[in-house]
Amino acid sequence: MNIHEYQAKELYRQYGVPTGKGFPAFTVAEAVEAARKLPGPVWVVKSQIHAGGRGKGKFEEASAGSGGGVRLAKSVEEVEAFAGQMLGNTLVTVQTGQEGRKVQRLYIEDGSAIARELYLSALVDRATSRVSFIVSTEGGMDIEQVAHDTPEKILTFSIDPASGYFPYHGRKVAFALGLTGDQVGQCVKLVGDLYRMFVEKDMALLEINPLVVTKDGKLLALDGKMNFDSNALFRQKDIVAMRDLAEEDPSEVEASKYDLSYVKLDGQIGCLVNGAGLAMATMDIIKLHGMEPANFLDVGGSASKEKVTAAFKIILNDPSVKGILVNIFGGIMRCDIIAEGVVAAARELGVTVPLVVRLEGTNVELGKKIMAESGLQILSADNLADAAKKITDAVRAAG
Ligand code: GDP
Ligand code: MN
Repeated sequence: MNIHEYQAKELYRQYGVPTGKGFPAFTVAEAVEAARKLPGPVWVVKSQIHAGGRGKGKFEEASAGSGGGVRLAKSVEEVEAFAGQMLGNTLVTVQTGQEGRKVQRLYIEDGSAIARELYLSALVDRATSRVSFIVSTEGGMDIEQVAHDTPEKILTFSIDPASGYFPYHGRKVAFALGLTGDQVGQCVKLVGDLYRMFVEKDMALLEINPLVVTKDGKLLALDGKMNFDSNALFRQKDIVAMRDLAEEDPSEVEASKYDLSYVKLDGQIGCLVNGAGLAMATMDIIKLHGMEPANFLDVGGSASKEKVTAAFKIILNDPSVKGILVNIFGGIMRCDIIAEGVVAAARELGVTVPLVVRLEGTNVELGKKIMAESGLQILSADNLADAAKKITDAVRAAG
């Protein structure tokens, strides 16, 4: 789960991580009110969307002017004008895809005088089973580009979870970032606070780009991208409260209500599968037969009829789906339950695209009987290759 920059900055403040002063705004009036509470003479008006690259982004609408999603204002009147241009308009950045994101929230921040822009991120490193910090002196830019062109400018440090954070970790980071004097001490405190926040809040990713040194020598987290481990959200109520459903794919939101693992993809074959491994294999075999999966969908090992029905509805509501492949191995889950779910959903919603179902395992005969007697147009398949061939052939014939 992701949160907005202004919410990330609230967490910074809770953990004593230095950041600029600022307020969120949902309307132009609130933006003006926020700007009046800040001293000026420079304000930063920042579009809040769950995507980076806002500074260099462009708005779709001509009425938004030629500025990007992060703009420096020199007066309250300018804050008002920029807020009016951003709110309700669609911001396209390198991370949003062509369709962009509608800006519905702003963050109005006190402008900082920047001397240096640095990069710092933290993530759970699966290879070492530790939290790693990644830092670079090349902040404020596209870090992927830096990694590609000058990989030597990116340094990684990890922290042993058993012994925890020590000041020497922070000093190593400080030296890698070229900090000297009392900035080293600031960095030692900063990295320690970030590590504590990362662990206590069950983060999966934290990215501060840029982490700046101001002209008066202070370290300041000027941006904040945070991603939280969804498996830990049950114990992170204050994080869940920050969720902004408007930023998430509606079908993925619906899927999460039923505890389904669903990821929307670009292809034309909708897949309903149990188990992540089988789902991956199903997607592979669709590709092998010359088509692309429209989604990844794992209904889990113990799905109920309601869950299967919900999953089926999500696939059917996707207009890019030209055919559906249901591939279930009935181990814990019984094939007749799946069949009932498929038949119920197909009846309720009316399936206009080819549907191939491959069932194997517990109560498979009963499952096949339920489908055969349903009166619905369901093609039955006996194995994975047969299923993939049947669905791709049927979609080609229909298309
Ligand atoms: P992103 O483009 O989505 O990553 O948004 P950022 O929050 O990183 O802002 C983009 C850029 O705007 C930063 O790299 C800075 O160069 C600039 N910026 C952001 N806040 C300030 C500020 O307070 N003062 C100045 N001078 N520039 C800022
Ligand atoms: Mn940034």
